[in-house]
Amino acid sequence: MDKVAAKLRVVRNSLGHVQAVEPTIIDHGSPEAPRPKYEYFKLNGWGYNDTKILFDSAKNCGYVTGSRYSFAKLPLTQLEEFVKRDVGLDVRSKAKLPQDMMAVDPPYVNEPFISDLGDSFSRLSFDDRERMTHSHGHTLDEMYRAKFGKFDRFADCVVYPGEHDHVEKLVKLAVKHGVVLIPYGGGTNVTKALLLLKEEKRMIVSIDMTRMNKVKWVDKVNMLACAESGIIGVDLEKELQKSGVCTGHEPDSVEFSTLGGWIATRASGMKKNYYGNIEDIVMNLRVVTPIGTYEKLSVWPRISNGPDLFHMIMGSEGIFGIVTEATIRVRKLAEVHEYDSLVFPSFEDGEKFMWELARNRVYPASVRLVDNIQFRFAVAFSVAPQSLKSDFLQRIARFYLTRIKGYDPYKLAVATLLFEGSTEETQYQKKLLYEIAERHSGMSAGEENGRKGYRLTFLIAYIRDFAMEHDFIAESLETSAPWSKVLPLCENTKKQVKESAAKLGVTIDPFVTFRITLLYETGATVYIYIAICSRGLKDPVAAYEKIEEEARWCIIRNGGSLSHHHGVGKLRKKFLPHVMAPCGLEIIRGMKQNVDPRNVFAAGNIVDLEEPKAKSGEDKPSPTPKL
Ligand SMILES: Cc1cc2nc3c(=O)[nH]c(=O)nc-3n(C[C@H](O)[C@H](O)[C@H](O)COP(=O)(O)OP(=O)(O)OC[C@H]3O[C@@H](n4cnc5c(N)ncnc54)[C@H](O)[C@@H]3O)c2cc1C
Repeated sequence: MDKVAAKLRVVRNSLGHVQAVEPTIIDHGSPEAPRPKYEYFKLNGWGYNDTKILFDSAKNCGYVTGSRYSFAKLPLTQLEEFVKRDVGLDVRSKAKLPQDMMAVDPPYVNEPFISDLGDSFSRLSFDDRERMTHSHGHTLDEMYRAKFGKFDRFADCVVYPGEHDHVEKLVKLAVKHGVVLIPYGGGTNVTKALLLLKEEKRMIVSIDMTRMNKVKWVDKVNMLACAESGIIGVDLEKELQKSGVCTGHEPDSVEFSTLGGWIATRASGMKKNYYGNIEDIVMNLRVVTPIGTYEKLSVWPRISNGPDLFHMIMGSEGIFGIVTEATIRVRKLAEVHEYDSLVFPSFEDGEKFMWELARNRVYPASVRLVDNIQFRFAVAFSVAPQSLKSDFLQRIARFYLTRIKGYDPYKLAVATLLFEGSTEETQYQKKLLYEIAERHSGMSAGEENGRKGYRLTFLIAYIRDFAMEHDFIAESLETSAPWSKVLPLCENTKKQVKESAAKLGVTIDPFVTFRITLLYETGATVYIYIAICSRGLKDPVAAYEKIEEEARWCIIRNGGSLSHHHGVGKLRKKFLPHVMAPCGLEIIRGMKQNVDPRNVFAAGNIVDLEEPKAKSGEDKPSPTPKL
């Protein structure tokens, strides 16, 4: 066997510190192997290199660069007015230029580990760009540092396994040589799950799963498919479509996030009402842990074999092992894929409509109710009508809604809808849904507005980058709450954010907006977008994080969950003892100690290995969770 890795030469200085590793990259992947992420993804922000929001002062409009999205290059004529009036952001202010890429510290190298690895990988890289992109996710803090700062610790090396056996070998050697492994999917998490611990002195190897990206088989009799865990969402759907099936799992990060990442974070997609959350989709998985590989011996529709260990892996955020593949439930491709939208006189009317949908189990694939601010935000980011006819029709619709029906444009709320399924089932669903909408004064606002609403989804993270360069920092939070708590939770969280921001000296009233979506009979998911002006703040990220922390306490006090689908990571770890009984934390710790006694998977997510000593009364976990 050609021990390629053994040919690596590590150059150290007289103090023993690594100065260089030569060659920097060893790649024996096929020409079709996925390219390293830095070649197409920004090093200092979100998304594709060629896509960015810019403002053209000469033409008085914003626009999206590149040609990937249908709205690229089209004029956003209402952007300036909205962000000035409702956010306080001046698009003509000089943009704060981000660095191209931060400086990266030299790596720690565990030579016996690398040498024992032989050629059990598809790619191995000490390239600074790869090490940097594998040292973070996409919280505000991480994005701000990517633009204007530096991470405290970098992955020392990135290894791309090409097959399950490579992963088994990596884990075995990491245990033997005391190396840390951090599984990496698309890097899109928003919980600091991939931010590395400053104090870690062992070599940290990021295990990038994206070269394990095959759909291994599709079984249309039992409606199952098996895929490797590094497959990216859009590629998974594209591959399955060739066999006439789909998963329907569509998180807003579907262009970049992976099957393994979804499992490890307990993700949820926007069409969950019809297709289910990730735990409803995954039927079997293969996970390599330091004490062996675990999988079910067959794919049974349901079993009662004691506790289901999958539920310990789903949401484990890389602390127990590496998921290498999963068998997933698939569905027939939908015959119907139709958008619509509804206008309600107020958010409260819209919420009643959502509640009644859930009560009657009328579940379109997706329904999202946005409040008035978010509706106006969406308008600001929608392109100007491209023809006189559509401009005329829009004016008529606006006239009818506001003058004839008397809806207040500064109060109304909008629900966007996506129907998927067979013709018969979606027709029946629509009939019931429109009857319910009518009872709450909902009026159709047309298919195009629905479609536009969903298209905006893919712009949100680009908008945050644009805002950050104009002194506005923003983040989204999510929670789930019982129906009876949804509206008070929104109202109180808004008050809390404003109060916290004022206390911290934020000069402009913060932008806070809500979306209710993902229905359950017992409650719903609430998304909250917060943006604050960072001008004049000594440490903008610390100020924002304080505001978010107080907002999260408020959400929990008002009956919301710590997270519906983003997870815990390191960002929300401190809240867990307040929403989980102490024995629950002990069960997780006990499992970690048994499965990974040498803490190879030292991401530091979810729980500390030892119960942290309380620093102050405020931080002290309560003995019983209070909701
Ligand atoms: C713009 C944007 C939109 C988003 N929309 C949604 C949404 O609609 N729904 C939603 O649920 N989330 C959403 N997220 C959050 C994020 O996309 C999800 O958490 C996603 O599941 C992460 O997948 P990933 O492949 O990027 O994982 P990563 O970020 O690479 O990793 C996340 C965690 O999983 C672990 N991990 C990754 N792969 C494996 C593996 N194979 N085995 C074991 N552990 C692994 C990592 O170690 C890490 O702890 C969004 C994020 C952004 C930035």
